[in-house]
Amino acid sequence: MIAIYARVSTEEQAKHGFGIAAQIRACKEMAKGEDVLVFSDEGVSGETLNRPALEELRQEIGVGRISTVICLDPDRLSRKLLHQLLLTEEWERLGVELCFVNGDYSKTPEGNLFYALRGAISEFEKAKITERMCRGRREKARQGRVLRDFSIYGYDFDSDREQLVINHTEARIVCQIFAWFLNPPPGIRGMAGIARALTSAGIPTKRGAPKWHRQVVRQILANRTYIGEFYQNKWDASVGKVRLRPQEEWILIPCPAIIDRLTFARSQLLLAQSRRRSAGNGPRYLLSGLLRCSSCGAPMKGRLWGNSAVYSEEPGVGCGLRVSQAVLDEKVWAWFCTEGNTAHFPAPKGELERRELLRIFVQEILVGEGGQFVVKTF
Ligand SMILES: [Zn+2]
Repeated sequence: MIAIYARVSTEEQAKHGFGIAAQIRACKEMAKGEDVLVFSDEGVSGETLNRPALEELRQEIGVGRISTVICLDPDRLSRKLLHQLLLTEEWERLGVELCFVNGDYSKTPEGNLFYALRGAISEFEKAKITERMCRGRREKARQGRVLRDFSIYGYDFDSDREQLVINHTEARIVCQIFAWFLNPPPGIRGMAGIARALTSAGIPTKRGAPKWHRQVVRQILANRTYIGEFYQNKWDASVGKVRLRPQEEWILIPCPAIIDRLTFARSQLLLAQSRRRSAGNGPRYLLSGLLRCSSCGAPMKGRLWGNSAVYSEEPGVGCGLRVSQAVLDEKVWAWFCTEGNTAHFPAPKGELERRELLRIFVQEILVGEGGQFVVKTF
């Protein structure tokens, strides 16, 4: 049912002669001949919400009898901005559509403020809801629960326990993929070869497709879930474009491993080599792409500074931190070797192999004044 609300105070009536009848007529025109219920307060101040017709209207809205309220402008609802906002918020929350006849009202200073605030409040409400939802999901993830079925090959989603459980049929294929990748049998070479072999063996993908693509094989080889590290809260979709969150916000959910860490690490090394082959020219310095300034967070790049190479922030970005490339490389490499990370691998030959080996274990290095550094490993 459509409701019309009209109000006029004693002074207004005397001053403008803008009577209740004119208001109701304008509202009825907007209702285009549909049945309406009219609520009108005459000779009542707009300073208070204590008005008989208004109270009646709010009651009718409360019991769900009204779908739309038509009113000349927000000023008719109340003279007080706060009350206007309160009423519009209350009614909109109950799913009632609120229409104002007087479009010009939005051009007055009062109208401007009303619409601006109303917009701000609904933005705020939306942000609050999003935040609440995100918080709820983060909380769930922190308790170690898997939020939904992420369809990871090798696992089933146990929705009762909210956990990943091993799908043994698929897990055998995962092991096969890693084994083929590290020790290619005759005729099965690289990710494309593995994809072809799986396709011709008639093994379906997670989605039930008969054809395996090399990109799917690559994703499996790079997925840390197989070593028992499933990450949630990795992607942020709350602000328009989806973006990767910084790693400290990721939430690790331990899950049953399918692949041992050494096999996985060896595969990452091979993957990096294949990336290098396909990319042609990789990063130029040992630590390229790994460095960030510890005080301002700006990424640091290797570049020439006079005759010597330095790692520094982009000019004009960050706080201006600059460290010697040779010195930092040496210090980081020395740290890396003493950590025993290199034990399982053949000694790297040359800069390229050192760079790749480093990237298997190191996610990021935070650099401070004088070349101090903190390493974030995977
Ligand atoms: Zn900085």
